[in-house]
Amino acid sequence: DVTHGPILYLEDVSVSFDGFKAINDLNLTIDDGELRCIIGPNGAGKTTMMDIITGKTRPDSGSVWFGSRHDLLHMSEPEIATLGIGRKFQKPTVFEALSVFENLELAMATDKRIFPTLTARMTGETRDRIEEVLQTIHLKDWHAREAGILSHGQKQWLEIGMLLMQKPRLLLVDEPVAGMTEQEMERTAELLTSLAGRQSVVVVEHDMGFVRSIARKVTVLHQGSVLAEGSMDAVSSDPKVVEVYLGE
Ligand code: ADP
Repeated sequence: DVTHGPILYLEDVSVSFDGFKAINDLNLTIDDGELRCIIGPNGAGKTTMMDIITGKTRPDSGSVWFGSRHDLLHMSEPEIATLGIGRKFQKPTVFEALSVFENLELAMATDKRIFPTLTARMTGETRDRIEEVLQTIHLKDWHAREAGILSHGQKQWLEIGMLLMQKPRLLLVDEPVAGMTEQEMERTAELLTSLAGRQSVVVVEHDMGFVRSIARKVTVLHQGSVLAEGSMDAVSSDPKVVEVYLGE
């Protein structure tokens, strides 16, 4: 459950690839329980920023802290994951031949290399957590169905559910509504909004209508640093932001 105050800080973070500064003195603070949207044109550094938070990419300089105790630059990618930082990539990767329920059960296994014996010796606690997550992701009626038959949107929700099984403190979500129907987008907005408050959620998204529908606070990245930050109305009327988007 959330405390109050920041859960993630990036301070003066920079990283170059072959002399090109993909992230350039980036400063970002995410509060515990917050739902934040990150927008920005292609090449702005959004993916690289997520890679830095999860430990996949090491910055050349700066600092990255999770809460006040964990210096992420001195931790490996698996160690960072065990702090409760979950990442959802754009393309859903669920186990298509398993049921929705089994997918969630599998996600509970802390060591993914060991395939757990499905259905055998499931604790009441796991079952309760699965029920709770099924409710959250709107897939209660689908629990016994094969994940392979779900719609694209439902697969995205299931994958978010798989991350929720581990009770993350911070969820990083990459373009969740790409390829979704209008109705699926509305449900996704509801889902992400309902998660905020219980954990922090950072969403990278291109669809401005969607961002407007969920975000209380938006950060605009451009050339590897923060160009503007604030409500969607404030950033979308900011002349600097308008210029960057018109130039795309
Ligand atoms: P976004 O996700 O906002 O589109 P990225 O973080 O993917 O932006 O990329 C930022 C910039 O860094 C781009 O110009 C991209 O080409 C470059 N870049 C990202 N990762 C690498 C890499 N591993 N090697 C070389 N260049 C990279």
